[in-house]
Amino acid sequence: MMQYDYLVVGSGLSSLVFAALASQAGAKVMVLEAHEYAGGYGHTFQMGKSAKFNAQLHYVWNCGEGETVNQVLKKLDLDQSVTFERLDSDGFDRMVIPGYSIKIPSSNFELIDRLADLFPDQCEPVKTFLRLVDSVAVGLDLIGSPLIASRILRQGIHTLKVAQYRNATLQNVFDEYRLDKRVQTLLASLWLIFYYRQTGFHFSPG
Ligand SMILES: Cc1cc2nc3c(=O)[nH]c(=O)nc-3n(C[C@H](O)[C@H](O)[C@H](O)COP(=O)(O)OP(=O)(O)OC[C@H]3O[C@@H](n4cnc5c(N)ncnc54)[C@H](O)[C@@H]3O)c2cc1C
Repeated sequence: MMQYDYLVVGSGLSSLVFAALASQAGAKVMVLEAHEYAGGYGHTFQMGKSAKFNAQLHYVWNCGEGETVNQVLKKLDLDQSVTFERLDSDGFDRMVIPGYSIKIPSSNFELIDRLADLFPDQCEPVKTFLRLVDSVAVGLDLIGSPLIASRILRQGIHTLKVAQYRNATLQNVFDEYRLDKRVQTLLASLWLIFYYRQTGFHFSPG
């Protein structure tokens, strides 16, 4: 009977990365997948002669030179075959809501300007809200990263924000910042920083 060092259940992106790295390091790995395609939410399938669709993924972050995705691909010698197209930084998405629409830029500063043009009285609340989103994102990243003393000293303050908003729903935070309902609709659709739990959309994974 074949012996394995690792048995991986499911072939989502995280499993495939682990399996590929472990196998490259010399381990014997078996990946089991229930679906007909490998890749989980990241799999691509063909419909008709030429149309290819991806199950879920539409943007991938951190894939520039030297960033995390690029480092992993380099390690697996895949960086030349798996390539990425940079999305239009002036508007990688367009949100259309009855009565108004906005192109979503890569830069938060530009986003604030565009929201301020649409909703002049909301400039300050939007700014402080986005500052909080950035702070929680840095805090979450810090919690999930290996402990590095200098980084904790520099950025530890952001983990306090994660703790402070651990149980807050998105609506709690919108209310705290007194954001207009139309701005709420736009902001709620923007980021994957918002996490769905049984009690609704939350501000952090808790
Ligand atoms: C609508 C939507 C849009 C998204 N957009 C983005 C985006 O733009 N950018 C981004 O970075 N992320 C995006 N994500 C998130 C991203 O798709 C996921 O975080 C990522 O693909 C999850 O990977 P995973 O390794 O957790 O495994 P999954 O993709 O969850 O895959 C799990 C696999 O395990 C298999 N499996 C489960 N149970 C068993 C079992 N018992 N036996 C065998 N096989 C099993 C499943 O069939 C599946 O193939 C999006 C997610 C959704 C839902």
